Amino acid sequence: MDRIGFIGLGIMGRPMCLNLLKAGFAVTAWNRTAAKIAEVTAAGADAASSPEQVASRSDVIIIMVSDSPDVQEVILGERGVIRGAQSGSVVIDMSTISPAVTRDIALALAENGVDMLDAPVSGGDTGAINATLAIMVGGDNTVFERCLPILQAMGKAITHVGTNGMGQTVKLCNQILVSVTNMAVCEAVTFARASGVNPRIMIEATKDGAAGSWQLANLGAKMVNRDFAPGFMIDLQQKDLKLALEAARDLLVATPALSLVHQLFVSNQAHGEGKEGTQALLKSIERLAGKQSQRW
Ligand code: NAP
Repeated sequence: MDRIGFIGLGIMGRPMCLNLLKAGFAVTAWNRTAAKIAEVTAAGADAASSPEQVASRSDVIIIMVSDSPDVQEVILGERGVIRGAQSGSVVIDMSTISPAVTRDIALALAENGVDMLDAPVSGGDTGAINATLAIMVGGDNTVFERCLPILQAMGKAITHVGTNGMGQTVKLCNQILVSVTNMAVCEAVTFARASGVNPRIMIEATKDGAAGSWQLANLGAKMVNRDFAPGFMIDLQQKDLKLALEAARDLLVATPALSLVHQLFVSNQAHGEGKEGTQALLKSIERLAGKQSQRW
């Protein structure tokens, strides 16, 4: 059984690491803020003093940190994974980062005989806790097959989508689909309400037809309850939309709907709503319609 290294024990990483331990893997873990390691060491993980040390003790090193520069730092930095990784080992980056940065990191690792998979996830903290994450994987197929049992300890729908960077590209597609659909739900809810139709009833009437979606059923329900607590925070969504916009621009692919949602979220952020859930996009649509913060 491969020895696993785990780097980044945040909202997502901690439960994912616990699920690997539950599945019987030996895990060596590291987190920048040392206090966050206690829960996984209590569950049987060994603590390391740096990403380099994690790599030196592991066959497969999983990374779950925030953004592209953070992944670059933990892999290529002074005490990074690349300094300790043995030839033949594999790095699996499960963070959501830039596809172009992913390809650069994969090349740098390959020069040291280390394989890489980009394997970003969808499903939120509940998916991480319940080991039901959707995982989109880019990289060599043989490496994917080798790592599949490890990914299966953390997720359910696991799809090999292509070469390095393509896992991240598919995750950005996921974010385009999710955020543009969210905008449509906000508009339908505001339009229903302005027309005198109870938005709750509008959702009930449409959610099982052709217009049905996870966003309508889940975020729509939160909107009508004016529950803006974060499942997925606007500030984090903006990180992903920025990555998608940059990648699309580099490819000369115009993404007008995506640009619009991004701008509306900027307005949310300007109103101090960046830490609210993405369903608070409703507030931006309501402000445009001059119909703010009423209950139904
Ligand atoms: P989080 O709770 O903020 O955790 C981020 C983790 O990354 C922490 O362990 C943090 O260490 C570490 N980190 C950040 N920058 C670092 C650096 N420069 N060097 C070393 N460690 C660093 O975030 P999260 O929600 O777990 O998200 C992690 C990734 O999953 C992100 O890419 C996010 O977009 C993606 N994702 C999140 C969700 C979700 O619902 N939350 C869903 C799908 C995908 P410290 O403890 O020291 O801060």
